[in-house]
Parts: sequence; C-alpha cells; structure tokens
Amino acid sequence: MVYENPDGVRIGLEVHVQLNKLNTKLFCGCSTNYHDSEPNTHVCPVCLGLPGSLPVINEKAVEFAIKIGLALNCNIVEQTQFHRKNYYYPDLPKGFQTTQYDFPIAGEGKIVIEGEDGERVIRITRAHMEEDPGRLQHMGSIDKSKGTLINYNRSGMTLIEIVSEPDMRSPKEARRYLDKLRSILDYLDVFDGDLEGAMRVDANVSVYMGERVEVKNISSFKGAERALLYEIMRQKNHIRRGGEITLETRHFDEARGVTLSMRTKETENDYRYFPEPDLVPLRVADWVPEVLKTLPELPDAKRDRFIKEYGIIDMHARALTTEIKVANFYEEVASKVDPKAAAVWVADILKGELNYRDLNVDAFTVEDIVSVIELVTSNKITEQSGVEIIRAVLDNGGKPQDIVKEKGLLKVEDDIVAKAVEEAIAENPEAVADYRAGKEKSLNFIVGKVMQKTKGRADAREAREKLLAKLDE
Ligand SMILES: [Zn+2]
Repeated sequence: MVYENPDGVRIGLEVHVQLNKLNTKLFCGCSTNYHDSEPNTHVCPVCLGLPGSLPVINEKAVEFAIKIGLALNCNIVEQTQFHRKNYYYPDLPKGFQTTQYDFPIAGEGKIVIEGEDGERVIRITRAHMEEDPGRLQHMGSIDKSKGTLINYNRSGMTLIEIVSEPDMRSPKEARRYLDKLRSILDYLDVFDGDLEGAMRVDANVSVYMGERVEVKNISSFKGAERALLYEIMRQKNHIRRGGEITLETRHFDEARGVTLSMRTKETENDYRYFPEPDLVPLRVADWVPEVLKTLPELPDAKRDRFIKEYGIIDMHARALTTEIKVANFYEEVASKVDPKAAAVWVADILKGELNYRDLNVDAFTVEDIVSVIELVTSNKITEQSGVEIIRAVLDNGGKPQDIVKEKGLLKVEDDIVAKAVEEAIAENPEAVADYRAGKEKSLNFIVGKVMQKTKGRADAREAREKLLAKLDE
C-alpha cells in the first residue's frame, strides 16, 4: 500500500533534550540535581548571568553531545564554537543565550522509524549544544495569567537541540520519531526521561499551499500528537475558508488542546548571533575515536540481534528493545528458559500488566517471571493462571510458588478432566444434540460446564479438545 499524503503535511521537530545525568551545569559547577529543591537554590553568578562572571565548559557535556551525535548517525564537526544568541526575556538575565550557530557539534544524521507505510528515514539536520534558560511559571493559562514566577535552578543546564528535516507526514509519524529518539537517548544513559522537562518539543508544521508555522511549548509526546492534529486541522480549515497561512509562531495550550498565535516569527538576523568571546573554539574531532568506543549497542542493532539470536518475531523484538532496561531483563530471562516463550511472557503479558499499572520493569524480578514461565511450560498451571500470578505479584507481592498453593492453581489431573467431560456430556443431552445438529455455540456451553466441574483449574483449550474427541467418537 502506498501511503498518500494528499494534504501535503510536512512536520519537522526541534527537540530540546536536557542532559540531566551530568552532575554539573554546562558552564558552572552548580548541581543539576535540582528537581526536588526549593526554587533558586542551585544558582551561582555564572548561571544567574551576573556581570563579570565567566563560563567554563563542562568537558563531560561535550562528550555526551558527541555520543548523541554518533548515535544519530551524524557527522561530528572538526571544531565547534559557541555563539551568543541575543534576546531579552526574564528567564535569561544575561540578555543572550550561549548556543552553537554555524558550527553545531553534529550534523547530517538520520533516524529510522516505522512510518505510515513501512520503514522511513527521518533526516537529522543538526544537533547543537546550548544552555537552558530559567523556568517561567505562569499562574494558570498563559494568556490569562496575572503574574509570572521565575526559577533559575534550570538556568545553565546542558541542552542538546536535535533538529530534524520536515520529513514526517503525520502526527503519528512525529510521535514515533519522538519515541525512537527517546529510546536511543535512553540507551546512551545521558538523561532521565522521566524528570520534568527532560525532553521539550517545538514543531514546524505546514500543509499544502501554506507557509511553515512553528508550534512551541509542547511538553509531552502525547501533547505533541495532540498539538499537531489540532494545528493541521486549523491550517486546513483556514485555507478552505480562503485564508492564507503565513510564517508565525504559536503557543500550544496543553490544558485546552489548542494553539494560540504568539508573534510573527523572528528571522535569524533578529538574534544578532556573534561568537562567544568568553569561550575558546573547541577542537572536538580528536575526541571522536575515544567516544566511539563507549557507544553501546543501539535499539535497531539490538532488535536485529534478538531476531537472529533468539528466533523471536519482529514485533516482540521491537517491544523488547525500546527500553534498555526491558532489553536487559529479557536477555536474562531468555538465558534461563525458552527465549520464544520468554518473549511472549515479557513483551506481551508482563509489559501489558506493567503499563496498565504505570510501573516499569523494575517492579518485577527475573526470578519470578522465570518461575511463572516454567510452571506454564511444564504444564503445571494454565496460561490464564500464569497471568493471574503476575497480577497477584504486582498487586499484593508474594512468590509465584506460594500463590499457586494459596489460590489452588495447579492444574487438575488428566483423568479428572476426562471424568468432568463425561459427566458434562451425560448431564447436558440437549446441548450435545444441538452441537451435533451444527450449533457451534452449544460446544462453548458444555466447555463451560467442564470448567465449572474442575473449578476452573482445567486448561480450557485442553478441555475443549477432550470434549471434541469424545463428541466425535
Ligand atoms: Zn551556576
């Protein structure tokens, strides 16, 4: 099937990733561990932008940036240089943001995603380093707020801004790109994606016949999909009514799910970029071989290896390699039981139960899932009982073996099932006659009777097979 894009939707994303796993900020020694701290307690003259203070580059931050560039298949620049991007805003008391301009640390990369019609390559334009400004807090909705508070704890945190080409053709593709990006960054261990503000998204959206509109202030992936759906619909409706889409910047109001016009877009000239005189140019080319050695196996490579090494299906391999924690968990389980059974139990069942409870894989142990898989594959309990045990462990704790005893989940013996089948046939002659007359539904009724007689401890599929064999005698 060829995916059509009749509305000419083109989406490009600018993702700001906060490297919150660094211990200190980009240009000063302030601790990055501020998320539970009082406002304005992780600050110093440098990150407050006081006159006379001088920045010193965080070496580890440059290493992280190179690592990210390499993982995104980018070229790493020979020599990079910081620039001042001049604008005044209360969250940026210096009056300029220290960022990278014409020598971004990384450029010309790509990410492969699952597109609307198979795999798609999304080109990465560039990835550059910059400092995070402070955080403005509005009271309620931005357009109605009567005041604004400023917290500078975030000011000076290291950001990597990853800019894509407008290669995505639907909000769903944008969502998949973000998921993939997060997965890669998770593997690199450069950020904790669960912390507030770890990934922030600005989107460029255009439709057929329209100019590019920038949507800012998108703070979650779900929000990104919603903002894009809304914005595409707004632009299309506007054009249909004879309107024109012009270059502008809009703000996404997450609470109301709408985008609001902020201002007509600045051009680059408005920012008067010039080289940062307080920081020397950085020659980074020589670091690349060293950093390359630290690069882990990334999601795509791991997925391909899982398929080859464990013989599991693509869908399971994808589900198991999105998060590095889950991938490691799976490999441990697969070393102890049949890898294919392990894939089904971890990817389909355990992950589903964890997601439902908003838990991650840390909430379950390898030992316990191995116990459950062994109980099922050795035919001691039914699959349904296996699921029941996982739920019980997650909800109330305890060990699978004990839960089997407590709940009496051990499967009944074959001869007991056989006896229940015979009784069910003898006691329900009408249903048997109906089934023999071609009413498939009557079979389910008799299976139900067998399950009742065995107090649900027979395997429904096996009971059905036994029943069919008996009825067809
Ligand atoms: Zn500081």
